[in-house]
Amino acid sequence: MVTPGSATASEMSRLVENLNLQRALLHHISNIPAVNILDKTKVQSIQREEREGNGWPLVYLSDGRVLRARLLVGADGFNSPVRSFAGIQSYGWAYDTQAIVATMNHHPRTAFEPPNNVAYQRFLPTGPIAFLPLSSTASSLVWSTKPDLAKALQASDPAVLTSMINAAFRLPEVSLRYLHSRMLEAHTAGHALSPDELNKEITWREQSHNVDPRSAYSVTALSRSAPGGIPPEGADLLPPFVTNIQDGTVASFPLRMSHADAYIGEGRGARTVLVGDAAHTIHPLAGQGLNLGLGDAESLARCIQSAVQNGGDVGSYTALGPYARDRYFENHKMLSAVDKLHKLYSSTAEPVVWARSVGLEVLNELDTIKIAFMMSAGSTCRTDPASIGWNVAASGLETVARGVSGAKNVGVSGAKNVGETIAGLANASVRGLLKQLSNTGRP
Ligand SMILES: Cc1cc2nc3c(=O)[nH]c(=O)nc-3n(C[C@H](O)[C@H](O)[C@H](O)COP(=O)(O)OP(=O)(O)OC[C@H]3O[C@@H](n4cnc5c(N)ncnc54)[C@H](O)[C@@H]3O)c2cc1C
Repeated sequence: MVTPGSATASEMSRLVENLNLQRALLHHISNIPAVNILDKTKVQSIQREEREGNGWPLVYLSDGRVLRARLLVGADGFNSPVRSFAGIQSYGWAYDTQAIVATMNHHPRTAFEPPNNVAYQRFLPTGPIAFLPLSSTASSLVWSTKPDLAKALQASDPAVLTSMINAAFRLPEVSLRYLHSRMLEAHTAGHALSPDELNKEITWREQSHNVDPRSAYSVTALSRSAPGGIPPEGADLLPPFVTNIQDGTVASFPLRMSHADAYIGEGRGARTVLVGDAAHTIHPLAGQGLNLGLGDAESLARCIQSAVQNGGDVGSYTALGPYARDRYFENHKMLSAVDKLHKLYSSTAEPVVWARSVGLEVLNELDTIKIAFMMSAGSTCRTDPASIGWNVAASGLETVARGVSGAKNVGVSGAKNVGETIAGLANASVRGLLKQLSNTGRP
């Protein structure tokens, strides 16, 4: 996640563990006398005050207290009780994907390599696996994969999970498919694969692919070698070699895309507003979920401040209107772009695989587009270069998505057309970017 204003041209974003962020925010608000924190208290139910015309929401707490809210902010996650109370529907779909998260320990980079400040993501047909640096010897894992495989990986010996992570970044897809099916077979039979059994399989797969044991791609050689020395060629194209998983850090979450039909409650749901995952959930492949929520919070705070300064009623629809106008479409663009990226990368159709590789190579050659993508990866929204990046990305991905559905219809022979579409994406992206840059007057 980027700290707004902190990222420089050479610094794309900052990774902050959610726990640290929460701790810092709690510490900050505990010093504000006007804020009253009710800890270890659940909202048991929310009801509307029965009053002529304009009853307020009544929040019933587990400690017996009842709060009467001029404005009730639903920052209560995907299953938001506030959203249910407000009667706001949400549309979207489950991805049939489970994300495994963990904190990994690994070798430090050697003096011959750049420091551990690069995030890696490999897009596998089962979902992306991401390696996000935290310190010189620890990084965070987000591995999105099919639910049955996630279950098998989570139930496996931590040494097996460690080897599977190293393999996932190094072995060809065909071997990973085989390893995944071995994991699943063993899990279904109630006999989890042992670290030794897995290492034998990996060694065999490496031999069958002629992986040089001295190469950066050899999982088995790396597991035997001590860190240090001159790294093999291409080592910087891969994340550091994981040595073990920190105890108690493995967890998994189902993934889905969802967007509330509205952010502000009306009628019997009046005086409510949604922020964060209560309003939208997104695939984590671009690491944007929390960032969108922070953008919502910032915008809502501005809106409330303006209502207070103008003597308005902070719970009224009119006062909250600017918040919804500011955020709904911004969030929608991001949700849509990331959803399309997910679909693009989950496809195994040959023309799509070919076209997306060509597309990425084209984008990789276009420094301006690359910078726009990088700037947009975690910064603020609205009319800054960050949002320009996602606007361009979103419209570009619309083009790609059209190419993908075209490719599905035409089969392999349509690959050339898809390639042209991708080239079109790059050109349209450049044009779009230049246009938007000239409109905003930002370099
Ligand atoms: C695997 C994975 C990886 C992710 N990686 C990233 C990333 O790299 N970057 C990023 O920006 N985002 C990421 N996200 C998304 C991010 O985690 C979420 O968007 C973010 O946590 C949402 O915050 P929130 O406060 O809106 O909701 P939540 O985190 O769901 O918080 C809601 C809170 O409301 C409380 N609550 C609910 N009901 C009640 C009740 N009845 N009474 C009292 N309290 C209640 C819950 O206890 C909870 O504390 C990731 C998500 C997943 C699943």
